[in-house]
Amino acid sequence: MGKCSKDKRDIYYRKAKEEGWRARSAFKLLQIDEEFDILTEVKRVVDLCAAPGSWSQVLSRKLYLPAKAAKESGHGESDLPLIVAIDLQPMAPIEGVVQIQGDITSSRTAEMVIKHFRGCKADLVVSDGAPDVTGLHDMDEFVQAQIILAALTIVTHVLRLGGTFVAKIFRGKDISLLYTQMKLFFPRVTCAKPKSSRNSSIEAFIVCEGYFPPEGFEPSHLQSLLDNEAMGVNSDDDCCSRRLEGIHRAIVPFLACGDVNGFDADQSYPLPALSSSVSETSGQAGAGSVDYRTLSPVQPPIAPAYRTAIALSKQLEGGKKC
Ligand code: SAM
Repeated sequence: MGKCSKDKRDIYYRKAKEEGWRARSAFKLLQIDEEFDILTEVKRVVDLCAAPGSWSQVLSRKLYLPAKAAKESGHGESDLPLIVAIDLQPMAPIEGVVQIQGDITSSRTAEMVIKHFRGCKADLVVSDGAPDVTGLHDMDEFVQAQIILAALTIVTHVLRLGGTFVAKIFRGKDISLLYTQMKLFFPRVTCAKPKSSRNSSIEAFIVCEGYFPPEGFEPSHLQSLLDNEAMGVNSDDDCCSRRLEGIHRAIVPFLACGDVNGFDADQSYPLPALSSSVSETSGQAGAGSVDYRTLSPVQPPIAPAYRTAIALSKQLEGGKKC
């Protein structure tokens, strides 16, 4: 598939490049913010699973850069917003964002995040974490659930009372269990589907507002609280979420977010013609693309996993020739 054809099929991919976002995911956070106002009054935020960094860019542009400009003009507060971003992958720098390279499921990474806040609590924790999808839905959902559990562990250590947690979820058959778990910590839990997230994808985001852990809760007890048996669910039952009944079962509202007149992620849009441009692949994208110029990615990955794969396969090929 040519880049030009992807620009046509995926409006948010194209818009991301036009607006200088490193990934189309930026629009998901922006649309969630439009609906839930999650960035208002936010001074400290953690961006989990942040690479290549488009959510961190949103946080920098919406929180850090305006505060810095206000401070420089003598009107702002002296303390600038603190944004801490974590990912397994290294990320090119973003103004106002402190980066930690690490695995969010490891306690060492969680401790580093906590250390950065020096005793202060965060107003918001966001997590767009996703495993490398295998296509085996049960497996993908399981790994995704582990990422959410790790994110929730960090939340219970760093989020202030009343704070907000946003996390990517896969809406599989056992999703009720996750909703029920989140309702233990947050009075308001909503499943949000931004317009920029394709309908064909089971991806959605839980927006958990008003952090309020159970009385006497110790963050170190999280594992047992989230244990199926502690929830009154038989862990041998592979359809455990169907066993969640009565007060054990939380039903959360589902909300589509993003302007109803905005772009639809599942639709193809004609490419805008540029009068003085070079056509990269006019044949591929069909009529309307003759004058279209494909933009390069805003920030190519700095250490992509495929680089190692290519190096390994070259080594193997070299070995075979000898
Ligand atoms: N929000 C990002 C953005 O806007 O650019 C995109 C995030 S991408 C969909 C998912 C990220 O999750 C990947 O960069 C991956 O490295 C990261 N990830 C997956 N498992 C992780 C883990 N255990 N610890 C840290 N990062 C992880």
